[in-house]
Amino acid sequence: MISTFEAMGRIENQCILVVEDEPTIAEAVASRLRSEGYDVSVVGDGPAAVDACASLRPDLVVLDIGLPGFDGLEVCRRIQTHRRIPVVMLTARDDEADMLVGLGVGADDYLMKPFSPRELVARIKAVLRRAADAPAAGGVELGDLAIDTLTRRVNLGGEPVHLTATEFDLLVALSEARGGVLSRRQLLSTVWGYRDGSGARTIDSHIRSLRRKLGSEVVRTVHGVGYALGSASDEAQS
Ligand code: CA
Repeated sequence: MISTFEAMGRIENQCILVVEDEPTIAEAVASRLRSEGYDVSVVGDGPAAVDACASLRPDLVVLDIGLPGFDGLEVCRRIQTHRRIPVVMLTARDDEADMLVGLGVGADDYLMKPFSPRELVARIKAVLRRAADAPAAGGVELGDLAIDTLTRRVNLGGEPVHLTATEFDLLVALSEARGGVLSRRQLLSTVWGYRDGSGARTIDSHIRSLRRKLGSEVVRTVHGVGYALGSASDEAQS
């Protein structure tokens, strides 16, 4: 069930989807946001939230964690698959927010219940401002290399580079090491989930392909150790 309400002022003309299964909270949040000039839609469960994100393409989602159907975590994962959508999560407990951060769920901010609608509006405005200022939020830049982890796009010197899903995951794992060296075993564990060190040949072939696409100075082989991203100046020589 989706109920869409036109904002009276239409100053912002931005669409916010509120996902909350407790009607009193949903209504309080929706009416406050409408009074701020946003277009607001409300849904009350996980599947409806995913559908509404696809059909309404909201500018931001206010997302409760505990939902019927599937929870806010799963909603967040699904709606971020194809498109970066700013999300403000509503948590029931303090430690829930810590857990979400630990899981790397793609939420931009968290607000613990009970919260004041005014606080929520302030958070929403801050998140929308950040989203407008930083369209490549979630990206990593290393010299000429730009990696957008949300859209999974890679640019080298301003030119798009087409990577396979595995190559992309390898690149992200290397980029997260911030120039540090990762062993094959570490990469296998991070990218493939192998714990026993098998599959080293697999890594080598994907790395070779990555080096072909990005250049051997971007994806460095550190002999006898593993692989790293970055300048070749400190490359270990054999
Ligand atoms: Ca709930």
